Amino acid sequence: MASKDQKDQSILILGAGCFGLATAYHLASNGYRNITVLEKDSEVPSRFSAANDLNKVIRAEYADPFYTTLALDAIKKWQTDPLYSPHYHQTGFLNVTSNAAPAQTKQVIAKYFASIKDHPSFVGQVERMNGQNDIKKLVPAFNGPVEGWSGYFNSLAGYGHSADTLKTIHEACLSIGVKFYLGEADGEVESLVHTSARHATICVGAKTRGGKIHLADKIILALGAGVANLIPRIGKQMTGRCWGVAHIQLTPTEASQFRGIPVTNVRDLAFFFEPDHETNKLKFCHMGGAFTNYSWSKDGLSLPFNNLSDSNFIPANDEVYIRQLLKQVLPQFADRPLIDKHLCWFADTDDSDYIIDFVPGMGGSLLVLSGDSGHGFKMMPIFGSFVEKLLTEGKQSQPKWQWKDTKPKQASVWRSGESQELAGVPRSKL
Ligand SMILES: Cc1cc2nc3c(=O)[nH]c(=O)nc-3n(C[C@H](O)[C@H](O)[C@H](O)COP(=O)(O)OP(=O)(O)OC[C@H]3O[C@@H](n4cnc5c(N)ncnc54)[C@H](O)[C@@H]3O)c2cc1C
Repeated sequence: MASKDQKDQSILILGAGCFGLATAYHLASNGYRNITVLEKDSEVPSRFSAANDLNKVIRAEYADPFYTTLALDAIKKWQTDPLYSPHYHQTGFLNVTSNAAPAQTKQVIAKYFASIKDHPSFVGQVERMNGQNDIKKLVPAFNGPVEGWSGYFNSLAGYGHSADTLKTIHEACLSIGVKFYLGEADGEVESLVHTSARHATICVGAKTRGGKIHLADKIILALGAGVANLIPRIGKQMTGRCWGVAHIQLTPTEASQFRGIPVTNVRDLAFFFEPDHETNKLKFCHMGGAFTNYSWSKDGLSLPFNNLSDSNFIPANDEVYIRQLLKQVLPQFADRPLIDKHLCWFADTDDSDYIIDFVPGMGGSLLVLSGDSGHGFKMMPIFGSFVEKLLTEGKQSQPKWQWKDTKPKQASVWRSGESQELAGVPRSKL
């Protein structure tokens, strides 16, 4: 029997977050005719998606030039693709350490600077920043001491409004015929459905909490930090981790003074963005070593909480870092209440490489898009092309993205601090 044309095959994508939506849109707009997406939340953007947020950094400096090249491709799309460009704000990226940062943290910034300073794409776009005068010249609105801040400013970078991007891509998917099932009964996947073939077990679909069975030729898992709920064996190479996110509310007048400021990452403290254009909120995140959740999850896995309300806090130390940052940069807000505090969950690998591959032993029926490691959103405009290549070639030729049965060895270089277990970590007060 002639094999079904690849583009006529039915494709079932589990998860309508960043990777799931990017894949659905790319495949559907490139001739795939039969795509269905299942999502546990009753709305898109999903409140469980790591990308459902005011903003995410879009920058191309990486310790690994492989990702620099990809991020530059993605930035071109952010600048020019009519679906993405309205959500991209090229405010630049100020990447520095404070006076008190340990030498090791300062070295990391130096490495990032080295990765782009002589790169042809960044000619004339990168400037060294050395101390208060340089910082205040670049951003006069920073009225705190910013003493000893040093690092660099990269103008070929900025942020994407991530919730709005998810919304746009969802609507674009609907407009080209992608089917969605949302919510606990029809969209939340409880288990995968398998059948036995001669040489392998084949995944043929997914069963939702309401008992609905969705069958398809290819099943694609795009479940973010929750993927190990459905395939626990991925826990050998990937860990569900979270960082805390918090905001402060500005008035429209206050916000107007900070329009267009660069994304500012004080690596040993926290990073923040220009005030959101709609809500006037400033968003902050202390990007330390991130938190695991082994004591809550089962089977030796670290997974996100099931209920959103359980993630509505940040660790007390994160608040300390954010307030230290505010004292140094915008002291007038140093005591303002932190609002909308929550944990943001992502799928972390020790080498920060994505996992984009067929799940072994499933006869090519099951694919996994995981291991975003906290740097996947920027790739959204090009991510679907990675998946189409995999489907077309039938195997992952990029070793970095292959399924691995053990934890990768190389440690992440871009985190400030070690990973900690969430249980027992004091929480920031409400
Ligand atoms: C604090 C924080 C800051 C970040 N900052 C940046 C940044 O500055 N730049 C950047 O590029 N990236 C950043 N990221 C990373 C980015 O958000 C992720 O790389 C991206 O969201 C990963 O996409 P995903 O589709 O794998 O997961 P998600 O976007 O989390 O989507 C997973 C989806 O699966 C759904 N789901 C889960 N379980 C089920 C189920 N059983 N059935 C059905 N649906 C289910 C969820 O509801 C969700 O919609 C950050 C992440 C965090 C946490």
